[in-house]
Amino acid sequence: MVPTIKLNDGVAIPQLGFGVFQIEPGQTADKVKAALDTGYRHIDTAQMYGNEEGVGKAISDSGIARDELFVTTKLNNDGHGREEAVTRLDKSLDRLGLDHVDLYLIHWPQPKQDRYVETWQGFEDAKKVGKVRSIGVSNFHPEHLDRLAAETSTVPSVNQIELHPRLIQAALREYNANHGIATEAWSPIGQGKGLLEEDTLATIAERTGKSPAQVVLRWHIQHGNIVFPKSNTLSRVQENFDIFDFELTGDDIASIDRMNADQRIGADPNDMG
Ligand code: NAD
Repeated sequence: MVPTIKLNDGVAIPQLGFGVFQIEPGQTADKVKAALDTGYRHIDTAQMYGNEEGVGKAISDSGIARDELFVTTKLNNDGHGREEAVTRLDKSLDRLGLDHVDLYLIHWPQPKQDRYVETWQGFEDAKKVGKVRSIGVSNFHPEHLDRLAAETSTVPSVNQIELHPRLIQAALREYNANHGIATEAWSPIGQGKGLLEEDTLATIAERTGKSPAQVVLRWHIQHGNIVFPKSNTLSRVQENFDIFDFELTGDDIASIDRMNADQRIGADPNDMG
């Protein structure tokens, strides 16, 4: 039921997944199990979240065939460097209990460290030996992507960026699309902080018989973004999955686009580190 998007290396990624940022390590296996039971087949974790073991436990307990699952993890900010990037991936694979991940991302470019080019070469190495099927980046501005293009030979398959109706990232989405890079949206429903109470969303939700969260997730899907909303609450996990039986009109999408305020929840990538 969940559509897939074909990445620039031919790998297919489910457009909807389950994010596990801020899920307690001790609760992660149960929460991921609930998501898998609901039908999610794409899980987005990171070394930084400290919960890869829980993700791995839910996967192994589920009995779901490995090739039906899409698992993403991300390199921690203190792990930059060509060799370190691969060593850190090996540790992730141990914690996840997997022999490869589907997608490995540089979590933040950390431009003040200025090592993301050599880190990317480590990602190319890891892909060559089959430890990861696709490699990508997160929180990269065009200037960071331009450097990878000038100094390495692999275009990232995805760029995972903060993206929701208050930060619609029109220019960066266009840059990604023009370079064959799929856009993944983090905090797709704005971490639920006030965004979901906006009148624009309430009006569309009432007309379509859907919730504001479902309307926002549908807006992402119709824009072609890949999303992985997080929730600890089973009813919301199910609600966030139930977005493929309705469509927004062009006017709905334009009115949600107009909610943009260029307002970030997280840091500007150039200020991190
Ligand atoms: P999100 O936009 O998914 O919001 C999650 C919060 O919204 C929940 O904690 C809950 O309070 C609320 N919520 C969830 N479903 C709801 C519903 N149906 N109705 C009402 N409220 C609801 O925020 P997020 O967790 O920050 O982002 C999603 C995922 O993106 C993360 O879990 C993680 O995998 C990824 N992420 C990546 C980065 C990065 O730097 N690459 C940064 C942040 C998040």
